[in-house]
Amino acid sequence: MDDYILFQPSVKPLHNEDEGDYWFLFRDDKLMVYEKDGKISIPRRKDVLKLNISIYNIQCMGAYFGYNCYCGEFVDILDDEKNKLMDLKTLSKSIEENYYYLASKAKLLLNWLKSNQYCGRCGSKMHMKDSKSERAMVCSMCNNTTWPRTSPAIIVAVTKGDKLLLAHNRQFPNGRYSVIAGFVEYGETLEECVKREVYEEVGIKVRNIKYFGSQPWPFPNSMMIGFTAEYLDGEIKVDGDEIIDANWFTKEEVLRMHNKSISLGSQLIEWFIKTY
Ligand SMILES: [Zn+2]
Repeated sequence: MDDYILFQPSVKPLHNEDEGDYWFLFRDDKLMVYEKDGKISIPRRKDVLKLNISIYNIQCMGAYFGYNCYCGEFVDILDDEKNKLMDLKTLSKSIEENYYYLASKAKLLLNWLKSNQYCGRCGSKMHMKDSKSERAMVCSMCNNTTWPRTSPAIIVAVTKGDKLLLAHNRQFPNGRYSVIAGFVEYGETLEECVKREVYEEVGIKVRNIKYFGSQPWPFPNSMMIGFTAEYLDGEIKVDGDEIIDANWFTKEEVLRMHNKSISLGSQLIEWFIKTY
């Protein structure tokens, strides 16, 4: 069981307070990390107690390997050089994957809390529901309740023979290409979303849509759901709005262009490189 479910979500601490408890603390969009002998780790309670900072928006996240995990924010300047601030993208390359995902959870919870300070129905102040089992914000006037919500988005690797479809988004830096991605519309299945996004962005129809994997993406509250699909019909015709260039690329070309990261898009490209 210990390595079957690594993280247990909970709104209340599951274990006694311990100096090994994990603290995921953000200032703006950066996580405070602890650095010792060039090794990056997540600050534990004993490290945080030494710091002269005020923490707010504190939430219990749950427990990881028997230690409670908390998230929170601070604005103070860090005066201990062992502690530094790191964005999540850099963190993903500097720390074991499990800790990156815990930091993502922390960021998701903090984004949720900040976006739900006022009621969407009547505009009154919301407060955290006092509950042992339920994470929710409740309106002080009308009782409107809101829970952490995720916005699903698909990401798909489309192949044609031994080539992969990659597109250049207007927002990407020069020369960067990626697989197709887009947000799921209300009332749409994931497969319908794959078909629509690929057709809208590059004018291609696809078939044989297969589930690949998923990844929480805390920018600010997405869940990426990955697929592979095969070319069915059509000629590449970019929408010119979001996508300004797209093409079929061979494995050799993809290898040259690929910039490895933890993202599901990067994992799909690695799948293509391994498979073709
Ligand atoms: Zn209300």
